[in-house]
Amino acid sequence: MAVERTLAIIKPDAVSRGLTGEILKRLEAAGLTIVALKRLRLTREQARAFYAVHRERPFFDSLTEYMSSGPIVACVAAGDNAIQRWRDLMGATDPAEAAAGTIRRDLGLDKEKNAVHGSDSPETAATEIPFFFSALEVE
Ligand code: UDP
Ligand code: MG
Repeated sequence: MAVERTLAIIKPDAVSRGLTGEILKRLEAAGLTIVALKRLRLTREQARAFYAVHRERPFFDSLTEYMSSGPIVACVAAGDNAIQRWRDLMGATDPAEAAAGTIRRDLGLDKEKNAVHGSDSPETAATEIPFFFSALEVE
């Protein structure tokens, strides 16, 4: 298995409900290592840049408005197969369809306000991590 790094984000709905600790606890309990961490608020333009791959989707305006509506916590998680393991911990995009015990099923509000983000491939992680962190900030 490859040692990977993935970008994990705790989204505004989860930060505002005081779920940062609960989510980071699940990440660490699964054996992933936090190698960078910060709390920040995206501007609308930064949210649109981060989600640019979705710019033609009907949910793009609402998603980027929401992602810039309050503070988020961005994290780089490292470990064997970290990208897929974090996706598995998150669960499906829609909390109503996510498996029992996943973060989105337990803590997500709806298909948009679904508590967490995770990179979906090594290529995505390689662009998403530097969006938030400089090389000096990642262990
Ligand atoms: N999203 C939404 N409506 C949809 C699909 C996605 O609001 O029908 C939002 C949701 O917050 C999701 C994000 O857009 O997490 C990115 O969508 P993607 O399909 O990449 O889902 P993910 O990779 O986050 O599971
Ligand atoms: Mg995605």
